[in-house]
Amino acid sequence: MAEEMRAFAYICPSCGKSVYGERTQFALQAAASAVVCDCGNSELTAEPAGNCYRVTVPCGVCGGEHRAEVPVDRFLRGSGVGLACPETKQLCCYIGEPARVCAAARELEITVRKKKDSSGSGGAFVDDIIMYEVLSELKDIAARGGISCSCGHQGCSIEVHSADVDLVCPACGGRLRVPAATDEDLDQLCCQYTLTIRGRK
Ligand SMILES: [Zn+2]
Ligand SMILES: [Zn+2]
Ligand SMILES: [Zn+2]
Repeated sequence: MAEEMRAFAYICPSCGKSVYGERTQFALQAAASAVVCDCGNSELTAEPAGNCYRVTVPCGVCGGEHRAEVPVDRFLRGSGVGLACPETKQLCCYIGEPARVCAAARELEITVRKKKDSSGSGGAFVDDIIMYEVLSELKDIAARGGISCSCGHQGCSIEVHSADVDLVCPACGGRLRVPAATDEDLDQLCCQYTLTIRGRK
């Protein structure tokens, strides 16, 4: 019988790619193992320590590094384990069967990238603070029913970009672009009590 492989995956905090590696059970039992990102800036390590493995994983979600102890049983056998980032409670690492880990890693990479696009934690915005203020201002305006479309629809959905926010009318698809990159953009928005999307009808 061929020796069972165990796989590891995490998201590199440096380059944002998913890092995937496989090791034989034998290798994992024999000594500490490491999986290094192609960019060379991050590395996951796993070290046998009695009845558990000590895992150090670079966290692509919060940018930090986390330590976890995984029981030998779950580390070497079974479908696998996911380790969650203690800061964000989001999964940031998988260890287990290669097929499962490989699929999970791809999903993880997409989730992390989407998060970065929408939360700004990866410097996705021209100015994170302005973007945050603009979004909370928009939320306030929306909360008092101040956002409407000339087609008659009340409310909107929001699309966040790096330097602006689009208010989109779900009824007619009309858009209003709100700049969100500078102090002036914020001042401009704060003096508006209502916002009207120019409808397409
Ligand atoms: Zn990397
Ligand atoms: Zn984390
Ligand atoms: Zn509309």
